[in-house]
Amino acid sequence: MKPGPEAWVREEILALKAYHVPSAEGFVKLDAMENPYRLPEKLREEVGRLVSGVAINRYPDPAAPALKERLRTTMDVPVGAELLLGNGSDEIITIIAQTLARPGAVMLCPEPSFAMYRMNAVLAGMRYVGVPLRADFTLDLDGFLAAIAAHRPALIFIAYPNNPTGGLFPEEVVIRIIEAAPGLVVVDEAYHAFAEMTFMDRLGTFPNLLVMRTVSKLGLAGLRLGYAAASPVWIGEFDKVRAPYNVNVVTQAIAETVLEHIRVLESQAAQIREDRDALAERLGDMADVTVFPSAANFILVRVPDASRAFDGMKARRVLVRNFNGSHPLLANCLRLTVGTPGENELMLAALSESL
Ligand code: PMP
Repeated sequence: MKPGPEAWVREEILALKAYHVPSAEGFVKLDAMENPYRLPEKLREEVGRLVSGVAINRYPDPAAPALKERLRTTMDVPVGAELLLGNGSDEIITIIAQTLARPGAVMLCPEPSFAMYRMNAVLAGMRYVGVPLRADFTLDLDGFLAAIAAHRPALIFIAYPNNPTGGLFPEEVVIRIIEAAPGLVVVDEAYHAFAEMTFMDRLGTFPNLLVMRTVSKLGLAGLRLGYAAASPVWIGEFDKVRAPYNVNVVTQAIAETVLEHIRVLESQAAQIREDRDALAERLGDMADVTVFPSAANFILVRVPDASRAFDGMKARRVLVRNFNGSHPLLANCLRLTVGTPGENELMLAALSESL
């Protein structure tokens, strides 16, 4: 008998767990930081007409000039910065890690943070070093600078705001990290629409800075489009690693048109910010619930028993994310995505009945 995959698959991949996405059929889905609002009917019709005209028999234009131009203007990408597009920002993380994975190269991240950073370090063969946040999820700058000095990382990821904790590290702390870093610093602004803070305008100041964003949280998660802005010398290297047709024709066409109506998505984001703050207040009023400050479209809370609360909420058809067991600092933590006001009410009721 021939040996199975365990004889051939890389050991670090055998040791990995696949990114698990539970089925949300029939649930109030508050586990993935999606925008709960659809596009207005008129815009959806326009998208429908647009899709019918797309030449799906042709490969996409790998340079995506029209979409890039739209992103430049709607997202205030500074003149002099170049853009890289990805099949979600997930793919951009993969491209960056693969590009920088010289033998022995280190990826450094605050912990806990977005799980795909570490996953991609492992996949690319980089050495991953996590620097724990403090118990209140603030960043210990001295500890982080010491780790930079000790490990000389090729790559640092700073999620701004951070996922799953929700907080925004102070601007001056991130600047000190960029200044001290010998290699590239990625400021991951996936939740930019809810934080209204950005490093985009600092790209000209720091040649080792890359600002990464996604349209997912803004309301276009199904399209799978992420983008990165940095100096052309960095983007030129990443472009060699990118699969030529990584952003499909339908995504390019829809994103270009919908971003022309960015005000629609921005007003949805404003509504979500308002509802987030109201939700945080309501959660704060609940006995036994600790609320961590959030600048994103989700709120991290600590409860007496996260698994009990998660199971109780699930039984009440509300799906959130349980982080208990994923990192010592996240003991008994649940991450609650901000939904519509109605969904938030259902979530609050389910949580209070499940504590
Ligand atoms: N960065 C952060 C911090 C995230 O939380 C996520 C999604 N959860 C991503 C990147 C990836 O987003 P996408 O691939 O949808 O662009």
